[in-house]
Order: sequence, then C-alpha cells, then structure tokens
Amino acid sequence: MNLAYRWFCRLDLSDPVPNHSTFSKNRHGRFRESKLLRHLFEKTVARCIADGLVSGQRLAADASLIEADANKQNSTPKEYWDRSTIDPDDAPRAVKEYLDVLDDAAFGAASTVEPKFTSHSDPSSQWTAARKGPAFFSYSTNYLIDTDYSVIVDVEGTRSIRQAEVGSVRTMLDRIKEQHDIDPERLIADSAYGSGPMLGWLVDRDINPHIPVLDKAGRTDGTWSRIDFEWDPDNNQYICPEGEALKQFRRNYSDPNRGPSGKGVAKYQALKHTCQACPSKMKCCPNADARKITREEHEDARQVARDIAKTKQYAISMRLRKKVEMLFAHLKRILGLGRLRLRGPCGANDEFLLAATAQNLRKLAKIFPAPQQMRKA
Ligand code: SF4
Repeated sequence: MNLAYRWFCRLDLSDPVPNHSTFSKNRHGRFRESKLLRHLFEKTVARCIADGLVSGQRLAADASLIEADANKQNSTPKEYWDRSTIDPDDAPRAVKEYLDVLDDAAFGAASTVEPKFTSHSDPSSQWTAARKGPAFFSYSTNYLIDTDYSVIVDVEGTRSIRQAEVGSVRTMLDRIKEQHDIDPERLIADSAYGSGPMLGWLVDRDINPHIPVLDKAGRTDGTWSRIDFEWDPDNNQYICPEGEALKQFRRNYSDPNRGPSGKGVAKYQALKHTCQACPSKMKCCPNADARKITREEHEDARQVARDIAKTKQYAISMRLRKKVEMLFAHLKRILGLGRLRLRGPCGANDEFLLAATAQNLRKLAKIFPAPQQMRKA
C-alpha cells in the first residue's frame, strides 16, 4: 500500500514523504474552505454526464444510516443535556460544528424534539433505533441517483431523522439544477418521502412523484375511506359512493375570510338527513350523524401521486428504486463504510462525498475500462 500511495502522490522511492498529519490538516483547512471534495465529486458527475451515463430523467432518492464514531457510554440523557453549558472556545471541533449547525435544516433545525441521548464527542449525530436493533449514534447519507446507470448525481449528509432526510432531497434537486441543469421527469422514492408537502413541492416543479403516498386517512374498521369518495374540483366538493355531495360550505358568506382559504385542512360534510336515510350508512359512518371528510392542503399533489401509482411506469419505477439500495449495500459491504471515522457534520459530509466519488469513479472505470498497456519485453 505504501508503494501505491507513493505512486499516487508521484513520489519516487527515495523521496521524503509528507508528515502523516498533512492530509488531515489540509482537510480541516484548505480542502474544506475551497470545497475541494464537493468539487471533486461534481467533476465525476460532469464526466458521467459527458459520457452519456446520465439522462437526468428518472432519478431515485433514499437515505442510509451510517454509524457515527460515538458511544453511548460517552453521552448524556435528554433530561440532563444542557448545551448552554458548552464553552465554544474550549470545545473540540465536532462540538463547535454542532453549535454552528443548530439552525441548519439538515441538522439542529430539522426537529424540535430532543434526542433521547446526546453524544459528548459528536453531539450532531442522532441517537436512533431505526434499524429495529439496538439503538446507536448515526448520520444519514442521502443519495440522489440517475437510474440509467446508477450514477450518484448528488449526495448530502444529514441527521438521521426523516424531516432532515426528506429536506435533503429538495436541497439536492435544487443543486443539480444549478450545477448540471438537470430537470428530472420523475423522482422515485419510498413512502418516507410521500408526505403532502414533499409531493406538493415536486408537483409544483413539474417533477412526477413516483412515490407511495403517506395516507393516514385510511380506515381499518371496514368502513369507506376518503379514497372511496370522488373529488369534484369544479364544485369544491366530494361525491360519496351513493352520489351525494359532501360540501365545505352550504351557504355563501358575505365575509370572504370565512370561505375556503386553500391552505391547511378543509372539512367536508354530507347533510345529516341524507345520511340518516342512506342504505349504506353502516358502511360509511355507522357512529356519526353524517359523514365528514378532511382534505389537506396538498391533496391535489397527493392525487397526482395516487394516479401515477396506477400506471405501468410506476411499477418500473419501483424496480428501479432498488438501485439506490444496491449502492448503499455496496457502500457498506465493499467500501466498508459501516462506521464513520470522522466526527461532526463536516467530517460525515467529507466521508460521504469521498465514498460517492469512489462509487462514481468505479462506475466509470467499469463501463469505460482503460486501454490495456502493453508490457515491454
Ligand atoms: S352515509 Fe351519507 S355520505 Fe355516506 S354514502 Fe350514505 S349519503 Fe353518502
């Protein structure tokens, strides 16, 4: 390996080697300030685009937990955690970074809920039991890939909570538009990304959400769910299976502020005497005088996603989604990134960027192998 490093650094066998701390000093200083690692990663993406490996049309996103370099023995339960006692001038680098990203949507501002434990050595890492085994401290690496050749078009490190992971997809989609002018036709993701606001954000940008809708309006008692009622946008009403209208307002208010705002949750209700006389009442609202339905702010976008879910293209997308998971499996099993070596959000981001760069370079080398050099006799 030492010979390989010498060859890589263009050092001759007798040349003096740099001090062992040179790389880490540069990483914390010049590399970080110049965003060298991100620049390097962007170069691999640009190369893949130039070589025709990225059409930018069918993108898939997902997140994976990577264990942080932190242990529970060196942590504080939330009842005793008080960040106001930290002296920033005397704190290690990872703790200073934690204080710096408290207002960052990918870290401190992602949720107001305090984690159950906070690590002393790396307080930005998230205590999580998301793998259904013993809980541990982790960061999430978020990938946005082009499904044509599984090229990673963007990567972002976040806290391991859903809000931060979903938010990172927006960041990445904005960034690839700016960096590479990529306007995807669709985004493929799992149901964690199927909330109303996320679907609304995608539909507003003309990106088709090939994402299972997160729908909490389903009923488990066998009675009809909201999905069984037809939405009539022209008249701002639902039509029930018996053909009756469920309206938000049944009279015209002189004060427009009392009318539908188009924001927040709207409630629709059938007429009491209609439901009382309905033969399907037991299947619809057995315990209420009349049926009520709520409609959320991004219901139009959710409906777009539901309609897409009935198409053949959606079935193809669900198969393509596995490509992100395969990249994560490769990241952990082949590249060995099961646990981070660097601490703090910057350290995690550096490792995620380098790993994604390596995966893209590997892809390029596999598809376009270097011409074999002839051995000299
Ligand atoms: S109970 Fe009311 S809302 Fe439900 S199907 Fe009958 S009329 Fe329609």
